[in-house]
Amino acid sequence: MRKIKEECGIFGIIGPDPMPMAGYTASALLALQHRGQEGAGIATFYSDNSLICHKNVGLVNDIFGEFLRHVPSTNVAVGHVRYSTTGNNTVENTQPIETVHSRLTCALAHNGNITNAATLRDQMVNRDGKVFFTTNDSEIINMLLIEQMIKCRNIEKALLKVMDILEGAFSLVIATPDKLVAARDKSGFRPLCMGKLGEATVFASESCAFDSIGATFVRDIAPGEVVSVDKAGNEIVLQQKTDGSCRGLCVFEMIYIARSDSFIDGLSVYEARLEMGRALYRQNPTEADIVCGVPDSGLDAALGYSLASGIPYAPAFVKNRYMGRSFIEPSQSSRERTVNIKLNPLRAQIEGKRIVLIDDSIVRGTTSARMIKPLRQMGAKEIHLRISSPPFKHPCYFGTDIDSEENLIANHKTVEEICKSIGADSLEYLDIENLLAIGKEKGIRYCDGCFTGKYPIPVSGSGKHKFDD
Ligand code: AMP
Repeated sequence: MRKIKEECGIFGIIGPDPMPMAGYTASALLALQHRGQEGAGIATFYSDNSLICHKNVGLVNDIFGEFLRHVPSTNVAVGHVRYSTTGNNTVENTQPIETVHSRLTCALAHNGNITNAATLRDQMVNRDGKVFFTTNDSEIINMLLIEQMIKCRNIEKALLKVMDILEGAFSLVIATPDKLVAARDKSGFRPLCMGKLGEATVFASESCAFDSIGATFVRDIAPGEVVSVDKAGNEIVLQQKTDGSCRGLCVFEMIYIARSDSFIDGLSVYEARLEMGRALYRQNPTEADIVCGVPDSGLDAALGYSLASGIPYAPAFVKNRYMGRSFIEPSQSSRERTVNIKLNPLRAQIEGKRIVLIDDSIVRGTTSARMIKPLRQMGAKEIHLRISSPPFKHPCYFGTDIDSEENLIANHKTVEEICKSIGADSLEYLDIENLLAIGKEKGIRYCDGCFTGKYPIPVSGSGKHKFDD
């Protein structure tokens, strides 16, 4: 069975007065739905401090209707949307993960992947006799937190200790009856930011979640930082000791994962994608009649290419809005079928034209091949495919769902061979130097391990959760 990988979205809110915190959380999770469509959950606390958590597999809009009608106004809530690939998409593995213990009652939402999870879990189960209720690496964080709370009774210090034990990627939001605590791993692999909604404090994976509930952005959580806020708005900030050499925001957040209307670590995702398109043009100016993007992932870079080249930007496809993501279909044949139904070429636009077609990535090659064939059938004269990322060659251990190395087309075909196999007239990827230059002026340093095989921190063992198998 393939392991679960998390590419999730998290949100939390705390304030001095009881408010519809679960409702705000549901709206924010809807804005973060692109980060996970397989399951979602919201946890909040009644006035007697008891924890209530509602979660299920499925989409935000389908999960919370009845729950939101009955849940009272509260002071704190935390929520999670989950993306898994195959296997174990069960209610038990959805988040937030609840802990009720004499030293700590909390609900935790995690985005990322703990690379030493298998080792930690093995120790806890076989040495310490602990019992786990999920096959989720995030439950390990709760267990470690309790251990540290028994020692120091201070959630911020306990979390800082836990962060020294964990390896890998984690952005966390943890709700207790009277505090909301956010933390980001020392590399800053996954985004996490903080905002204000009136007197309430909010944390989210992406700033687009703040816009959706009328909150204002305050700042990004720094790599290695713990920020805790109580109901009155008092803040405690602690910083993990690190020399900064392990810094590395996942570059695929900028390329594909995040929503274009978000800002991450000071950089507009939209601007970053425009620049990827501009850079693609500068790398190899290509003559064409129109520039088109593969909806939706290639649209911003296509606009950037058009702005840099002066070639008109035009839609090449009509997207069926009622289809899910093709990438997460379990088999190659179902992925191909889904791509076909999802996007249909706009004959009136493309007939007789030389097209520069832009997409964000080629992983297995399914999407590109399926895009190009119907464009040709509907009369496109030339199709020049431009990809706003370098070729995918290596696995991600830090929470992005990338297929195994043997399934990555760039590992067994040259660029020319890929171009031929997908049926394009020419193919060009964005150079890694041009990609990494984006956001440099903001001090952003990326993890580009999926393209280069070089990761900002060592990956112990396989980095995979063996306990899923
Ligand atoms: P493929 O069809 O296997 O070559 O995958 C490439 C397509 O899938 C591109 O159009 C991307 O927008 C999308 N994609 C790439 N990586 C991911 C990911 N980790 N999760 C979801 N979609 C992805």
